[in-house]
Amino acid sequence: MQLNTHLQQMKDGYLFTEIINRTKAYQTEHPDAKVLRLGVGDITRPLPQPIVEAMHRAVEEMGNPDTFRGYGLENGYAWLRQAIIDNDYTPRGIRLDLDEVFISDGAGSDLGNLSELFDTKNTVAILDPAYPAYEDTSMMAGRPIEYLPCTAENNFVPELPKTHVDIIYLCYPNNPIGTVLTREQMTQWVRYAQQHKSVIIFDSAYEAFIQSPDIPHSIYEIEGAQEVAIEVRSFSKTAGFTGVRCGYTIVPKATGLQAMWLRRQCTKYNGTSYISQRGALATYTPEGKATIQTNIAYYQQTAQVLLKGLRELGYEVYGGVHAPYIWCRVPQGYDSWSFFDHLLHTCQIVCTPGAGFGPTGEGFVRFSAFSNRKDVEEALKRMKTLA
Ligand SMILES: *Cc1c(COP(=O)(O)O)cnc(C)c1O
Repeated sequence: MQLNTHLQQMKDGYLFTEIINRTKAYQTEHPDAKVLRLGVGDITRPLPQPIVEAMHRAVEEMGNPDTFRGYGLENGYAWLRQAIIDNDYTPRGIRLDLDEVFISDGAGSDLGNLSELFDTKNTVAILDPAYPAYEDTSMMAGRPIEYLPCTAENNFVPELPKTHVDIIYLCYPNNPIGTVLTREQMTQWVRYAQQHKSVIIFDSAYEAFIQSPDIPHSIYEIEGAQEVAIEVRSFSKTAGFTGVRCGYTIVPKATGLQAMWLRRQCTKYNGTSYISQRGALATYTPEGKATIQTNIAYYQQTAQVLLKGLRELGYEVYGGVHAPYIWCRVPQGYDSWSFFDHLLHTCQIVCTPGAGFGPTGEGFVRFSAFSNRKDVEEALKRMKTLA
């Protein structure tokens, strides 16, 4: 056999592993220090009760001979796909067929797997900085990559690619910068993809954090987007499913890709757990919606406290309004990792070095509002001593 040399040559030392290692090393040397974690992009509030109850009922059904279920459909139960259409798309004037919705075990898998639909010679456009999955999966397949820098100079709005690209990964609301695209900006991308016969893989894992009615929640709010865009969503950040695993991907028939994706999934994916799908369905009940809204509001308010606090301390900060992330320029004399170390060693605060999201992330760190409010307040107090 020959190895996949693209994968073999990839650097290891995944960003979050390095953060964990440095944090552990510090904690071992200073066992009494109370380390405040403002870095990790994971949910901290427990699953809402209506979801827990729905999953309990599903487990009971599985243990009863009359209601036990084995394999479900590879693309998910119709009741969940219908609820997604009725709640997330129809109210925004978007019409989708039931078989354009594919239930997944989360956005992470599909963001990688979707690339199997395309030739490995296809060029890929990726935002820089970006969530690491897009670059990693493109590299594993050996695809040429064009990076689209998002800098303070361009207001963190990437310019359209100068040359032709085939596959475009967009993530809005953005991780790690926390910014959004306006309707006009999103329209430009759809027009580019139409002109170039490219495909947009639109990651909207943070859609629930959008606070303004002017910001599109779905790329399909843009006319013509159903011809060129696949939308990937998740219950992870919306409803606290990071450890439960459930998401969904929209592959419109107008892309010409729906049948191929179904074919691929039927071979390689045997469906999302019935229990997870019952939990996901409960997010659309009135009680489910109410508790989720409470959790999102908590994170949004935490982001506001963090944003305001950092600004008052004199930091240059971005994002944090329609997303749980704040992008913060590091003070003069530091780079991403040296400021990470400095914050850890002097304030016992863990952030995420921006350089880990791509070369343009150098000079920034990401703070996450998926934190306890008290920890955020304590962190801001400790950071006063730095200023
Ligand atoms: C967390 C995250 C995901 C992954 O979500 P899962 O559904 O848990 O796999 C996808 N995209 C972005 C940008 C994320 O931050």
